[in-house]
Amino acid sequence: MGAWSRPESRITRVRSRVLDLPLPAEFRPAWGRNEIQRSFYMTLIEVETAAGITGVTAAEAGPEAALSVERFVSPHLIGQDAAAPERLAGVLRDAEILGPPVYCVEVALWDIAAKIAGLPVYKMWGAVAGRVPAYCATGEVRSPERRVEDCRRILADGFRAVKLRFHSDDARDDIRVVEAIRRELGDRLVILVDANQAGVLPGLGGHRQWSFRTAVEVALELERLGVTWLEEPLPRHDHAGLRRLRDRLGTLQLAGGENNHGLHEFQRLIDDGCYDVLQPDAVLSEGVYQLRKVAALAEAAGLLVAPHTWTHGIGLLANLHLVASIPNHSWFEFPHEPPGWPASALSQMLTSRPWIDPDGCLALPDRPGFGFELDEELIEHHTVARYG
Ligand SMILES: [Mg+2]
Repeated sequence: MGAWSRPESRITRVRSRVLDLPLPAEFRPAWGRNEIQRSFYMTLIEVETAAGITGVTAAEAGPEAALSVERFVSPHLIGQDAAAPERLAGVLRDAEILGPPVYCVEVALWDIAAKIAGLPVYKMWGAVAGRVPAYCATGEVRSPERRVEDCRRILADGFRAVKLRFHSDDARDDIRVVEAIRRELGDRLVILVDANQAGVLPGLGGHRQWSFRTAVEVALELERLGVTWLEEPLPRHDHAGLRRLRDRLGTLQLAGGENNHGLHEFQRLIDDGCYDVLQPDAVLSEGVYQLRKVAALAEAAGLLVAPHTWTHGIGLLANLHLVASIPNHSWFEFPHEPPGWPASALSQMLTSRPWIDPDGCLALPDRPGFGFELDEELIEHHTVARYG
């Protein structure tokens, strides 16, 4: 510990609880062909300090994340100053060499630092905005008729933008959904499209990888229909393909990055001209403050940052503080796909569950730290394993 370290923020314990949280109805994720999801795993991680201030975060994964924290992170944190997160960023990068990524731990450290400072994290980092425009992120493949019906409800809820999933056997069926929405609702909704092509491993039903030709054909159709961005049209390491595709487009933006990790991978994506909108996630891709550095690189290159947030309510709020502290943010992902995965399910571990205001924006919590308020009773009820 350096001489300037504060004894009150010395880390005394790191404890994890693995939760298996129920969904209110069956959910058929577009990105997992033939899969039916009835619950989701989350690992709640609490970093305790000598003065009794606790930092909170959560991994998207289950027991494997808890084990990774216990084996590869916790031994390097105990006795260290939680309010000096920059000194511990390397520990989290190294942990990924050995186990599943646990970049989410940096959120707990900043939660402690901001609680000591008595400020919400986004204010400590510059507070560009007090609220951020959100888009309704859907997660299933549905018929044009049903999606038009959904979009009427989405508009009535107050959203100004929606994200659709393109996963049909024939991409022309997906385009028909966009055409139906434009025909019935005109330009009242900003439309975003996600093809989830960045992963290259087969799902249970076999992954359908788009060819470069399919990506070009779909992108040009979406441009014709006034879609704002196309997300993950190609594998995450196909930098040359992404650049070639982007060079052929005018108004349609390319978005991606949720499956890329580490400061240096994002630097490459920027240098190689792959995307208009970068989508790292503060609990998946890098430390939350490290993503401010990614955002600065993106800002200098004239790019936008719109984090992936489909993990859990804690991840959603962490990403919300991040974007409210950077000038080059864009539409903010707000997962909401009733009946299987409504926003209330994503944030069920919180007593105060985020929802949009009448303008379709998410307001930043004004409590010190990230403002996580845990529903302890619900968390205990769904805890399936404990570590630390
Ligand atoms: Mg996505």
